[in-house]
Amino acid sequence: MRKLVYLSLGSNLGDREANLRQAMERLGTLGEVVAVSSFYETEPVDVVRQPWFVNCAVGLQTEKMPRQLLAALQGIEKEMGRRRQQPKGPRIIDLDILLFGNSIVDTGGLTIPHPALHQRRFVLEPLAEIAPEQRHPVFKRTIRELRDALPAGPPAVRKLDKLHSPRINADQRGS
Ligand code: ATP
Ligand code: CA
Ligand code: CA
Repeated sequence: MRKLVYLSLGSNLGDREANLRQAMERLGTLGEVVAVSSFYETEPVDVVRQPWFVNCAVGLQTEKMPRQLLAALQGIEKEMGRRRQQPKGPRIIDLDILLFGNSIVDTGGLTIPHPALHQRRFVLEPLAEIAPEQRHPVFKRTIRELRDALPAGPPAVRKLDKLHSPRINADQRGS
């Protein structure tokens, strides 16, 4: 059965935007990418002494089961050259499962909804762009409500100019 899944994409090494675009292209092999947020430049949160990230959120229709999807995402991270070194440290690409339909999963190293989803502006800001009315199945709040409930102030999250955002072609530019 096809499920609508929301993913968070992040990169803070190399050409960060190109890395996000390449990851999205590869996500097309796992289903259909049906929504893509703008790109956001974001201040690192846990390990603060590292380059800023570019983050976005993606809606994917997929037949895969949660565990299969996680394995496939880890495969893409590996193919793109991610090496697991310092936890929470710099990475070419990070692909997290935020929501998997309305499913709640908490087994063997996989937690859905993502356990930090409701606390992270760098996740909620892009997700609220493509899924504002989607309800968090544990907290029963919409993504917009969770975003609006975040404390103001740092860490910074800045929406990038449209020219940087995905799928903008020459015809749409400048209009
Ligand atoms: P965070 O999950 O806090 O954003 P991270 O993305 O830096 O941290 P990783 O090193 O990429 O963490 O992944 C650590 C482990 O998280 C993975 O091995 C994976 O099994 C597990 N994990 C649990 N729930 C999820 C989820 N919803 N999406 C992706 N990975 C998950
Ligand atoms: Ca992550
Ligand atoms: Ca991850």
